Amino acid sequence: METAYFNGKFIPKEEIRISPDDRGFLFADGIYEVIRWYEGFFYDMSSHVTRLKRSLRELRINWPDADLFPSFAFDLIKLNNLENQPAMVYLQVTRGAARRTHSFPSPEVPPTAYAYAWGFIPDSKSNETGIKVMLKDDIRWGRCDIKSVALLPNTISFQEARENGLKECIFVRNGLITEGTHSNIFFVINGTLFTHPESNYILSGITRKNILRIAQEAGIAIREEAVQENRIRFIQEAFICNTSAEVTPVTELGGNTLGEGIPGPVTKIISAKFNNEIKALKG
Ligand code: PLP
Repeated sequence: METAYFNGKFIPKEEIRISPDDRGFLFADGIYEVIRWYEGFFYDMSSHVTRLKRSLRELRINWPDADLFPSFAFDLIKLNNLENQPAMVYLQVTRGAARRTHSFPSPEVPPTAYAYAWGFIPDSKSNETGIKVMLKDDIRWGRCDIKSVALLPNTISFQEARENGLKECIFVRNGLITEGTHSNIFFVINGTLFTHPESNYILSGITRKNILRIAQEAGIAIREEAVQENRIRFIQEAFICNTSAEVTPVTELGGNTLGEGIPGPVTKIISAKFNNEIKALKG
């Protein structure tokens, strides 16, 4: 039996009942977070809580329990016997249930909060040998910095990648490469690491932030600057990153082979340092 968190309580997942008037259902009026459990700890929980609070603030959803996320996420791991395996916790908070109208409910209604945990097998083959990804016009809205559950452009674009036998779809906005449907992307050009700067056109990934720190500590030159799609031929290496995929090399981008078509040396250094950090945290 799967135990989930629902509005402050732990209950069997199948007993959860959400109103058809919930604004998450009607308008995708909600936000989410995803964090990874590494057989003993959550990686960078404090950054996830900070981003969770920011998403809530940006959408003006008043949910008082954001600071309890570390505690109930851990309870979900324990209640579902996931302590000793790689696992993830998903949390979603919506503006709650109210008669449908575009403006926010007045008076305010309680938000709906739902979280669950699941065990997973990391895709170590992709981490080692790399993946091929497609490129596509960024059809998303102008607030990609909010971790909103309104993800239709992301889901249809990822589906398109899948149907083409590719592992991710990378967006291009006004000629600039932004990020993936559920990942950030880095490039290596002549030894310098490039990634799109924090802005309303990308999600500030927690993995992205930690990779920038790790690269800086390793003395790798960094430029938080978008790479133009028409400069792909100058890219020697690329990798995507997110909470579950960590550092995943990209060997082909929009049909273009990058470098030798295998994970490059800078990518390997960053990936190794990221893995070492996880090992050290495991103790
Ligand atoms: N960008 C998008 C659009 C995402 O959905 C995600 C994560 O799912 C990321 C970037 C990476 O974020 P994080 O490293 O915090 O998982």
